Amino acid sequence: MKMRLSLALIANARLLNSGFRIGHRIHNGVTKASLLSSCNICSRAEGKWIKPAGFDTGVKTYNSLTKQKEPLVLAQERIATWYSCGPTVYDHAHLGHACSYVRFDILQRILSRIFEINVIHVMVITDIDDKIIQRSLEQNISPTVLARMHEEEFKRDMQALRVLPPAVYMRVTDNIPQIVAFIKRIIGNGHAYVTSQGNVYFDTQSIGNRYGKLVNLGGIVGELGAQDKRDPRDFALWKASKPHEPHWESPWGQGRPGWHIECSTIASSVFGSQLDIHSGGIDLAFPHHENEIAQSEAYHQCEQWGNYFLHSGHLHLKGNVEKMSKSLKNYVTIKDFLKSYTANEFRVFCLLTRYRSAIDYSDASMNEARSTLSTISAFCHNAQAYMQGHLQCQPIEEGILWERLSATQSSVRKALADDFDTPKTVDAIMSLIHHGNCQLQPTAKVDGPRSPAVFGAMLSYVREIMGVFGVDLLDIKEDHDSSGVFNNVVEELVHFRSEVRKFALSVEDQAPQEPHTGSEIQKRHPQLDRVPLLKACDALRNNLAPLGVHIKDRGTNSTWEITRRGETRNN
Ligand SMILES: [Zn+2]
Repeated sequence: MKMRLSLALIANARLLNSGFRIGHRIHNGVTKASLLSSCNICSRAEGKWIKPAGFDTGVKTYNSLTKQKEPLVLAQERIATWYSCGPTVYDHAHLGHACSYVRFDILQRILSRIFEINVIHVMVITDIDDKIIQRSLEQNISPTVLARMHEEEFKRDMQALRVLPPAVYMRVTDNIPQIVAFIKRIIGNGHAYVTSQGNVYFDTQSIGNRYGKLVNLGGIVGELGAQDKRDPRDFALWKASKPHEPHWESPWGQGRPGWHIECSTIASSVFGSQLDIHSGGIDLAFPHHENEIAQSEAYHQCEQWGNYFLHSGHLHLKGNVEKMSKSLKNYVTIKDFLKSYTANEFRVFCLLTRYRSAIDYSDASMNEARSTLSTISAFCHNAQAYMQGHLQCQPIEEGILWERLSATQSSVRKALADDFDTPKTVDAIMSLIHHGNCQLQPTAKVDGPRSPAVFGAMLSYVREIMGVFGVDLLDIKEDHDSSGVFNNVVEELVHFRSEVRKFALSVEDQAPQEPHTGSEIQKRHPQLDRVPLLKACDALRNNLAPLGVHIKDRGTNSTWEITRRGETRNN
């Protein structure tokens, strides 16, 4: 860990996560006379957030700065500047990381595709830090090589989880001159000091009670151990390098940047003195984001640098109180996870809780996600089969379905505008599917009108909304063969099997059938010499299922569907 968090800090982060407020007891430091510390002190003391002026998106989002939902107002019309803290690339990324990146990816997709906001996302890659140096020594490779290897792996993992890449990835080591210049200006503005040991610290007393804007700091004393700090809460902007460590030249001697300064510098170098949205896991709120705010406002001499801070909840292994983390050795790597589950399933797993909530990872919770996805896929398949005329049903009560579709569309938009309420959205979609399924009951004998259009509209909407979340319902077939040849072969095979089955089931001397029940097949008694044909048809169906080809017999007709290998279908 970059900094050892005291139990008090962890407790505070949890309270922040739960939206619970604790008493505001700030360490009372001596306030330096400076532009920054004199600006708007009164409103700061009251902890007031300044509502930005600009374009109201119509979306409300929980803002960690105010601990409540606020209207999301952007500085520019339909443009959101968004900075996120990226990975420290010293090891494999695990599912806890994946969860945070996928959840924010979903939020960004919602903003861009539902609310037509152009999200400009910048992410930093931390490619120099204590852990990277430590690991490179253990493995006897250069820190740069180690960092590049894991950076590439991280990008591959994100691609596999279908996380859209940011507009740009920025590396810390590509921005050292900018970081040095940034620190120089903070010193010049009277908010940092150089020590005789060649370290530069941020002077938290210089900003008075503005330190603690994000996290109430009652009881927090700061990092212990550094002897040359004026205040235990002060944090390093520049660290003098130890022998044999990677280092860069600076006005304060050879050294390397502290952790927090990279984000302030890089976000400012891209977006200037004002940022719409800043995101990260809840564990980053303190000290990392608190320190980013202090540095950036000290540099820009502004009252409010980032307008909205969004934090995602932790991922826990079921039954484990602690979050998934490397240091606790309770993690699952993304690579291992994807051997058992798909990106679609992980995304549905993330959708089933709000992005701010803690989330329990277990086989049971993944099975719930898998079964939700399976219900959605099965509906899409059945709706398609109905439209193609392969699935025959009683006449459809169209009016109800058109009404349900329209109600779903508006309730989904409303839920997503309310701090990105994805569980409510999934509920609305599942309810629409339930209504669709109620009417898609197969029957052997059909008369009356058909209603393919309403199922087409429902199918398109379900696919589209799941597509917004990065859940690609067409992807299942593409897994097997993107050329479509495989699909055509299965189509022919199933058609041939249907013909054989129809022949096997057709009997001259059958008993009178009950009309419209679809159950007459069971009541027929095939001629004895045709029983082996039926057995062969059943064997083919059973043998193809583990290979991912699911044949469903509906009366004398059959439909088919390709799923992930080994996945079962209940319908
Ligand atoms: Zn950061």
